[in-house]
Amino acid sequence: MNKKISKVLIANRGEIALRIIRACKEMGISNVCIFSEADIDGVWVRKADECYPIMGNPVQAYLNYEKIISLAIKSNCDAIHPGYGFLSESPEFAQACEDKGIIFIGPKPEHIALFGDKIASKNAMKKIGVPILGGTDEPIKDLEKAKEVAREIGFPVIIKAAFGGGGRGMRIVDEEKDFEKLFQSATEESVKFFAKSEMFVEKYIKNPRHIEVQIIADKYGNVIHLGERDCSIQRRHQKVIEIAQSPRLNQKVRREIFRVSTKAMFKLGYESVGTIEFLVDKDDNIYFIEMNTRVQVEHPVTELITGLDIIQRMIRIAEGSELKFMQEEISFRGYAIEFRINAEDPNKGFAPSSGKIETYITPGGPGVRMDSSVYTGYTIPPYYDSMIAKLIVWALDWEGVVAKARRALDEFYLKGIPTNIALHRAVVRDPDFIEGKFDTGYFDKKLATFNLEAKHFFEEENEKLEKMQKFISTIKTHKLEVRH
Ligand code: ADP
Ligand code: ADP
Ligand code: MG
Repeated sequence: MNKKISKVLIANRGEIALRIIRACKEMGISNVCIFSEADIDGVWVRKADECYPIMGNPVQAYLNYEKIISLAIKSNCDAIHPGYGFLSESPEFAQACEDKGIIFIGPKPEHIALFGDKIASKNAMKKIGVPILGGTDEPIKDLEKAKEVAREIGFPVIIKAAFGGGGRGMRIVDEEKDFEKLFQSATEESVKFFAKSEMFVEKYIKNPRHIEVQIIADKYGNVIHLGERDCSIQRRHQKVIEIAQSPRLNQKVRREIFRVSTKAMFKLGYESVGTIEFLVDKDDNIYFIEMNTRVQVEHPVTELITGLDIIQRMIRIAEGSELKFMQEEISFRGYAIEFRINAEDPNKGFAPSSGKIETYITPGGPGVRMDSSVYTGYTIPPYYDSMIAKLIVWALDWEGVVAKARRALDEFYLKGIPTNIALHRAVVRDPDFIEGKFDTGYFDKKLATFNLEAKHFFEEENEKLEKMQKFISTIKTHKLEVRH
């Protein structure tokens, strides 16, 4: 079981591919990357030890698991890291790797399958004593049956795709009269994105906070947590800003979330890393909503407050190493905030913006980390997720991290395509944000104000740059005159 990994195939693209390359390099492990026809200019293609194209449909390239496994075998890899999205939560893929003698860097296929099914996982967690929200305990395709459950638990309810993710296939229903229409549109979205029509209904909590726990477990029953992340700042149920530690979480609630999460993972015999997501209501009740059996987009905030490299730990666990530290040895130092930088236009309903990045100057300095895969002159292909970079900042206290966030976001200069950078600037100046007062309704509620301020920042920045340009040209002209 204890087989050292010496070469890893990275079955992903973008910033997470680069993140895994970096972990491998530090561990002295060789890496092999893949890229689609549309990704020939990807920065990970240049940084990889070896790289192979997968021709054909640019999205299917990263889902083509037969081709990916055969590439891994041909290039003598002993393991595959799936990153997030794409094949990372496919039990079939994990199983296929195992069948071919390739280590899948992630949990066991049975756990991926269990938590890929939101209803089955809620039932499993309930059995272990983890609190869940009321609703259907089996998949529903039938409208009338779903409506009956909704009536029983009482409106408002949320309709969800049983096999959904990424904020898709969800609809909030306030009143019974809207149920039919919303059930149908949620089902349609689920079929479109996940090719599944199983739905479920759950009690809807008004403006909760989203608190999740990072779990890490080895093959020998050692399960520990790496603290919580507050991911309440969301746009339409998709995370936009993530924070560790939560600036406003009752210590008792925090401890309870840690306790039930580690207990559940121990009981289930879970291994590798994983994230257990909870909603916390106004009265500090906690409810398990789902678990992600993979590395999370927002893992860097946990890395910054614990000093641990989550990707490296994941690789070590996959090769059969025992966890080298106990819960008591994990300490949480300071605060970290991650800002998802998306290529999208907040003024056009957040439509994805593909196109060329003309100038890209990233922030740096103390306490600033950039996980990104774009550069000046790079053209963003239209086929993938709009997240192009993550800006992560760290400081010892909350006030310090907010100040750092402001400074770093102001330093960020990206020209050529619309992004949400200016929106982030508005958020970090908002008094409620500064006081740590936010829930999952916060961002959408304040969006109009944030948009106005963002526009103002944008104009101000342009004005300043224009003035600077003029000043520089005068100096240049002046110098020329002096020389002549
Ligand atoms: P995280 O849960 O790590 O915070 P997201 O929910 O944004 O991050 O998902 C990470 C990536 O995986 C995104 O690119 C998202 O589109 C994709 N993704 C998440 N769940 C699924 C799914 N069930 N099917 C396909 N893609 C998914
Ligand atoms: P996904 O798989 O898309 O990440 P989740 O089930 O994790 O879906 O939910 C994503 C977000 O949707 C949550 O963080 C929360 O903001 C909102 N949400 C989900 N379920 C509920 C609920 N029962 N009540 C209120 N909000 C919810
Ligand atoms: Mg989720």
